[in-house]
Amino acid sequence: MKTLISQAELEAGITSMSADINKQLGSTPLTVICVLTGSIILVADLIRRLEMPLRLGALSASSYQGNTVRDILTLDTHLLPNVKGQHVLIVDDIFDTGHTLNEVSKHIQTLHPATVYTAVLLRKNGRREIELDVDFVAFEIPDEFVVGYGLDYQDLYRNLPYVAILEEHEIKQVADPSA
Ligand code: 5GP
Ligand code: MG
Repeated sequence: MKTLISQAELEAGITSMSADINKQLGSTPLTVICVLTGSIILVADLIRRLEMPLRLGALSASSYQGNTVRDILTLDTHLLPNVKGQHVLIVDDIFDTGHTLNEVSKHIQTLHPATVYTAVLLRKNGRREIELDVDFVAFEIPDEFVVGYGLDYQDLYRNLPYVAILEEHEIKQVADPSA
């Protein structure tokens, strides 16, 4: 495993992103939507640096392998607060192809919020398939599979306090412990 973003760098990046959000939104009341499970740690660190009156909600986005080229994305929205007429900030862990954030964003739009902003910890370079301009991005990263600070591989590594690149042999080790 190779550290890509250290604990100190994460802290600086999130402080800087939260300063941008505070500057852009001022004292506008905000409903923050945590996209579970990956963004749980980011949201905890981010909202403690936000200064406006703030409500917190969550939804869960998960994909499973379908028989098509792309995974099928399902949203579980039963933890969502009422966002009608509210200014909403959707927070996700990573923008890879963009399909997840796009689907979440489209769903929130159907609930008639006043405004929808988006924020991600990481944006992977060269992978975008969706024309969605994320409003706040803490870090741009190369096209590598990363774990830590909320991001998992087979439900492991979310608790790492830094972001690391998972190497080929480590991916095999977890997939097949006997190998
Ligand atoms: P997208 O829909 O933008 O292609 O992908 C977003 C989702 O794919 C993320 O929420 C995350 O669950 C997963 N994902 C994409 N790239 C990575 C990665 O490098 N590491 C991990 N752990 N998950 C990733
Ligand atoms: Mg995810």
